[in-house]
Amino acid sequence: MRIVILTGAGISAESGIDTFRGEDGLWSKVNIEDVGTPDAFARDPALVHDFHNQFRRSLENHQPNVAHLALAKLEAEHPGTVLIVTQNVDNLHERAGSQNLIHMHGELYKVRCQACEAVYHWTDDLSVKSSCQRCQAAGQMRPHVTWFYEMPMRMDEIQRALAACDLFLSIGTSGNVYPAAGFIADIRRMGRAHSVELNLEPSEGSSLFAECIHGPAGEVVPVFVDQLLESSMDAISASEKPK
Ligand code: NAD
Repeated sequence: MRIVILTGAGISAESGIDTFRGEDGLWSKVNIEDVGTPDAFARDPALVHDFHNQFRRSLENHQPNVAHLALAKLEAEHPGTVLIVTQNVDNLHERAGSQNLIHMHGELYKVRCQACEAVYHWTDDLSVKSSCQRCQAAGQMRPHVTWFYEMPMRMDEIQRALAACDLFLSIGTSGNVYPAAGFIADIRRMGRAHSVELNLEPSEGSSLFAECIHGPAGEVVPVFVDQLLESSMDAISASEKPK
């Protein structure tokens, strides 16, 4: 069985990282048009760098939670393939041990040079004076994240995985940000995979899922993963029994 798992800010909420929406969400503290768009970067790069620098610095204070760990266990123990497609720019999935992972909105611990397009690992602050380690151009560095109005990364690979999967899980995402919010409609249109939403509350696209489990990711994800692993082991033992 091939499993594709879409994750969003909600899976990292119990690690202490703010989600986007909600009362204490990131967007209640900053204006998206000031710090999260290409126009904002062209207008005031120092402000945009400052926002991302603070977010990047804060990451070391947060640890993967039991939901991240459960998904890493699923990948390690499930007899088929498990792909996580995350909208998150934090690194909690990889720190939990997940390996087959696509960061469709990029990573805070990566930067990109707008002059030579080089992308590399980066843990320090960025500034308007930072220069590229590859081409040495100064003032061209930006966070390797997808801002609003930009195209997410690795979409062809994601679409191929969605078309081939047997089970689609959506965890901790509000269903407001496209194209990720449209994956469930793609799954329904293709008509072959079972779909399950695991979220604190019904998302925008909740009614399109075949099954919904509502609760905190730290509670519902480990239980769901254990049941899934148990049922796949049962299926294997049944197929191995002499007929
Ligand atoms: P969102 O803020 O729009 O929605 C978060 C969803 O998670 C909500 O539906 C909420 O009900 C749910 N949620 C909150 N706490 C939860 C919990 N404990 N368990 C399960 N679900 C919980 O987030 P989104 O849909 O991912 O929005 C998209 C954008 O947010 C993405 O582009 C992503 O890059 C960005 N983002 C990422 C991070 C991060 O990297 N950790 C943090 C904030 C925002």
